[in-house]
Amino acid sequence: MALACRWKSITLPMADSPDHRDDAGYGAGTLGVRGAEARTPWREHSPAIFATSSFCFTSAEQAAEIFAEREAGYVYSRFSNPTVEAFEKRLAAMEGAEAGIGTASGMSAILTLCMALLSKGDHVVASRTLFGSTISLFDGILSRFGLHFSYVDPCDLDAWRNAVTSRTRMLFVESPSNPLCEIVDIPAVAQIARDADARLVVDNCFLTPVFQQPMALGAHLVMHSATKYLDGQGRCVGGAIVGDAETVAGTLFRFMRTCGPSMSPFNAWTFLKGLETLQVRMEGHEARARQVAEALDGHPQVRHVYYPGLSSHPQHTLAQRQQRGFGGIVSFDLADQATAWRFINRLQLASITANLGDTRTTVTHPASTTHMRIGPEARARAGIGDGLVRLAIGLEDAADLVDDIRAALKA
Ligand SMILES: *Cc1c(COP(=O)(O)O)cnc(C)c1O
Repeated sequence: MALACRWKSITLPMADSPDHRDDAGYGAGTLGVRGAEARTPWREHSPAIFATSSFCFTSAEQAAEIFAEREAGYVYSRFSNPTVEAFEKRLAAMEGAEAGIGTASGMSAILTLCMALLSKGDHVVASRTLFGSTISLFDGILSRFGLHFSYVDPCDLDAWRNAVTSRTRMLFVESPSNPLCEIVDIPAVAQIARDADARLVVDNCFLTPVFQQPMALGAHLVMHSATKYLDGQGRCVGGAIVGDAETVAGTLFRFMRTCGPSMSPFNAWTFLKGLETLQVRMEGHEARARQVAEALDGHPQVRHVYYPGLSSHPQHTLAQRQQRGFGGIVSFDLADQATAWRFINRLQLASITANLGDTRTTVTHPASTTHMRIGPEARARAGIGDGLVRLAIGLEDAADLVDDIRAALKA
């Protein structure tokens, strides 16, 4: 019972402990390893997992104080948990944001953004090249609740300006986009959002804060599928949103408390450990992706390569300006679906799976998988052809990956 008594008297010195360093000024790599480091009185080095659904109060009086928000304290893991909070604070620090909130998945992060920040009649302008489920969420579900969505060519600033109406409250972009790696001019679109009194949300899944910090470029909010590079080994599904404290710790937190698309402490711990290796992994993915893109570029079987690191990429200069790296996703066009499927089936060092951002290289045929549900018209609009293949380059040896790809391309 000594243990129980001891815990009762403890106020955990989590991320806001008095001996906590001032993390301001550190780079994303350092923050990934050390940001929002928190330790309980047990002095553990690796962060603890708080696998608990609720937290105890020392008295009825304290319960009333914490419920009334007169005293700070954890209540219930639907909306507050020290492990989830450690992940939220570390990611927010890496993104240069005031606050963060973890969600059950990347999709529930987008759902949270729309449900918490928009009302019936509001309008969203989005890039037409988005993750397939994002388009399905907008058109198939949220449109039934009185929200309106327009899609524009993400690279055409006039198209963004012209699509904005008096009811536009949110602009939503992925940059680089999935799967074609189109680059959106984030500062310019952020200005269009500000002029319209709307918020710019950036899905920063492909680059992570290691290669791009959309908040520093003017974005209002950044969302992640933590499932991808933040985890980095294909273990857990999760998501996150970072931004200003009023929106994230205020409006989004209240939505989370009531609606509960929450991140589990186990998953938060996995993502927290993922952030520690994020910088070296991203650099490793990119180094290999460049070599793969160069090997594909000019190959007789390959019609077009989509990789922002190639000088032939139409937004190569823009990518250099607003990104610190080009990322690990390489897409390319083969002649048709049969050729694409044959190539995919011949690869030895790529898993045929929908995930990306894994240590293991993954390959997908977007038209028949991730972008199947949006239909042929939307696919044509987004430029996703039947011969398109997307590689998410892992951390195998670059020479082995290139050899494997060359062998699979042999007619
Ligand atoms: C995977 C993904 C999502 C959705 O995230 P989940 O964690 O699968 O729900 C959103 N945006 C992009 C760019 C993605 O790749």
